[in-house]
Amino acid sequence: MTIKPLIILPDPVLRQLSKPVETVDADVRRLADDMLDTMYDAPGIGLAAIQIGIPRQILVIDVSKDGEEKQPLVFINPKVLTTSDEPSVYEEGCLSIPDYYAEVERPAEITVEYIDLEGKKLTAKVDGLLATCLQHEIDHLNGVLFIDHISKLKREMVIRKFTKAAKTRGAKAI
Ligand SMILES: [Zn+2]
Repeated sequence: MTIKPLIILPDPVLRQLSKPVETVDADVRRLADDMLDTMYDAPGIGLAAIQIGIPRQILVIDVSKDGEEKQPLVFINPKVLTTSDEPSVYEEGCLSIPDYYAEVERPAEITVEYIDLEGKKLTAKVDGLLATCLQHEIDHLNGVLFIDHISKLKREMVIRKFTKAAKTRGAKAI
């Protein structure tokens, strides 16, 4: 069990593109395990590998409710195939943008193609919180953050706040 440090806004690493996984091997499975440990520790409901500094197309998600049995999901090389016209609005947050939440509108239902930890190619039709979370995490693979879906004014405000906080952290480290 390894909890990895999280990459926080405005670190430019978060804007990197993640590369597809070629082979699902022991390294990939170990990385997925570490990502789940990191996500549960945070705690969060989703994490992309780039959020621990690894630009590979791996996501972990668990949208089970508090007190319910854990339902860890791993998506490798996920790709959205179809999206519904019907939108859904959810107040999103992000482990890389701690303590900031904003409403984001996304398609309510999506079909996604991905590879599982056994290297099997699967297709799933999902809705609800899982659909929102998957789209948020797939955005990370393209260097996109949920604040890119809110107004420019709000986005600039949150980036300014986190840039200031990062400078303060830097000053303390000296
Ligand atoms: Zn996020």
